[in-house]
Amino acid sequence: MGKIGSAVKMKCPRCGEGELYDRTNLFSLKGIFSMHKNCSNCGLKYEKEVGFFYGAMYISYMLNIALFVTATVGYYMFFEDKYDWRFYIIIYLLITFTLVRWIYRMSRSLWLMIMVSYDPDKKDTIK
Ligand SMILES: [Zn+2]
Repeated sequence: MGKIGSAVKMKCPRCGEGELYDRTNLFSLKGIFSMHKNCSNCGLKYEKEVGFFYGAMYISYMLNIALFVTATVGYYMFFEDKYDWRFYIIIYLLITFTLVRWIYRMSRSLWLMIMVSYDPDKKDTIK
């Protein structure tokens, strides 16, 4: 699957097999920030140290900027003469709040992709 494929599918960045998150409650607000501690396949500890995921904030920021720029350009190109800008703001906020969870999870996944090298044969014992 490779490193980028693992990140997009939110799988372990080292082996590409273990899940980063519990997918069963993807749309429930409960457990929105919960993440597995280790990869179920290779045993990689995801949060290497306290504050390891602070770097994911920058990824999250970039994803939000990309969303904002895309939505704004799309509005001015296709909808400006049809809808008022206030309508655009409301729709944009609805999209943003709908995607909060996905952006949060994807930014952590991409951060792990950057920080961990892809090595499907390596195994750790889970402590
Ligand atoms: Zn793994």
